[in-house]
Amino acid sequence: MKLVRFGQPGRERPGVFLDQAPELDGQPGILDVRAMAFDLCDYDRFFFEHHGLDRVRALLAESRRNILPASRVRLGAPVAPPGQLICAGKNYADHAREFDTEIPTRPILFGKAVGSILGPADPIPLPAHITRADYEAELAVVIGTTCREVKEEHALAVIAGYTLINDITDREEQRATSQWYLGKSPDGFCPMGPCLCTPDICPAPDQFQLRLTLNGEILQQGQTQDMIFSIATLIAFITRSMTLYAGDVLATGTPSGVGFARTPPVFLKRGDRVEVDCSPIGQLSNPVG
Ligand code: MG
Repeated sequence: MKLVRFGQPGRERPGVFLDQAPELDGQPGILDVRAMAFDLCDYDRFFFEHHGLDRVRALLAESRRNILPASRVRLGAPVAPPGQLICAGKNYADHAREFDTEIPTRPILFGKAVGSILGPADPIPLPAHITRADYEAELAVVIGTTCREVKEEHALAVIAGYTLINDITDREEQRATSQWYLGKSPDGFCPMGPCLCTPDICPAPDQFQLRLTLNGEILQQGQTQDMIFSIATLIAFITRSMTLYAGDVLATGTPSGVGFARTPPVFLKRGDRVEVDCSPIGQLSNPVG
């Protein structure tokens, strides 16, 4: 299943994206989940903890379905604002080398403010004082089961699905102190989506291919098999110390090719379009400014 949220910012409704909806003569459609089950309010912690995915699957199988044309709606991030948006830093060796040459020997984890989350096609706001905004294409995991002390061999079972983020970063702020939080958290600096793909339609977690383009030029290409710490290792490492809650989002790091490490450096500016592609999840396509 491809879960999406659609509607105006802050008022999104849960849906399921259908590549070809028979009700629309094979055009892409969105199943309006709340129109069919009023108590399924949103893709949030309550939803994942109360068999929400099973219920949405059952709605898909109903004969009278409420379907909208996908072309008519704005998509938001595919999950409700999570309690925690945790990111792995320097989790690809090539990127660690271009960042500061030190390859991490244990996972580097940081937070990104939930207020930075943006829809998959929304414009990225660029405040005048930020002159070094950089892109980072990443695979992200949505936690489906509230969990603690998860063993690595059981870690994939707590995943509800996969989505994409662009971990946009104010490099000047990130480098100004040892703490990355503010540099990672400006409003709108985390495009997310376009859907949450459940694992049954996804490759193995180490078999995703990521690509980022800026104004059509390919600047990042990577594969998740090159992660230093696998998704299972990250989940096991984090939950040794802290609970991950259903609906939380874990971003897994970016491959090489980011803007500040280029010669000359490349930073986002008004009028740009930055796109992140990964099959079968789809595409983030955000104008800047
Ligand atoms: Mg990142």
